[in-house]
Amino acid sequence: MPELPEVTVVVNSLNEAIKGLVLESTEYDWAKKFYWNGFSIKDLKGAKIKGLRRIGKVIVIDLSNGFSFVIHLKLTGQLIYLDKKTRVSGGHPIPPLNSPVPNSTTRVTFAFTNGGHLYFNDLRKFGWVKVVKTNEESIKAAVGKTELGPDPLTMKCEEFYERIKKKPQARIKKLLMDQSFVSGVGNIYSDEALWRAKVHPKRAVVSLTDAEIKAIFNGIVDSFKLAIAKGGSSANSFVDGRGEKGLYLTFAKAYHMTGRPCERCKTPIVREKMDGRSAHFCPKCQRLSEGSPALKLI
Ligand SMILES: [Zn+2]
Repeated sequence: MPELPEVTVVVNSLNEAIKGLVLESTEYDWAKKFYWNGFSIKDLKGAKIKGLRRIGKVIVIDLSNGFSFVIHLKLTGQLIYLDKKTRVSGGHPIPPLNSPVPNSTTRVTFAFTNGGHLYFNDLRKFGWVKVVKTNEESIKAAVGKTELGPDPLTMKCEEFYERIKKKPQARIKKLLMDQSFVSGVGNIYSDEALWRAKVHPKRAVVSLTDAEIKAIFNGIVDSFKLAIAKGGSSANSFVDGRGEKGLYLTFAKAYHMTGRPCERCKTPIVREKMDGRSAHFCPKCQRLSEGSPALKLI
């Protein structure tokens, strides 16, 4: 599942390639996940691509005629744009992003009048495309309430503080990964943010000090900014728009660093199962102290 930095990288790369192109047709072989919402190709043909944007982990392609495509890559989605001169791809690496397209995983093909095509490939078929009118209400409804937590890159620390205080019994790592709490944080960046904040992933919110809450917020923002600058993460083997693997993992402090020395204290990073996912953390810097209310939740 891509997290916010990976989707940002895909959106930025595709934006450069497809802005201004004129839509000719759409084809799909997985009708269940292509939602026309009562509209048809007649409403879209001849529309120009105004641009791409990201809402949480969801991609929105706005058209010049008041319609938008809303796209969720989910677990295995890829977007690949191809014309005679350009190939821009991003998303899950299976099948490899340089494979010929269309192929057996191609679910949707957007054709443009310049002869170029945008392919939405999805091996596992969890992703979807929705056609909506370009207004906030319709787009939010398409994205879905569970994906609509505030964006950590635009929210203020005060808002994060207010929201987290409403969930005193939640375990911090699980709460960070809840897309209705904040959008775009998954397994990678919850580990990275908590390492930066020196907070154990199993801590209950009620046990956190104000300074720790602030440090967690800054940890999310800092790890996101670093990952975007480095082209996204290669942990899920996400690949950026130029087909190059993201470099972030080589800069990761905790995620997938099991057994490697913590950068601060040299204690080996450990991995523990929690809530069906793996948490990676430094058992020394990120202590679960005696008497912490979090212990009740283990
Ligand atoms: Zn440490």
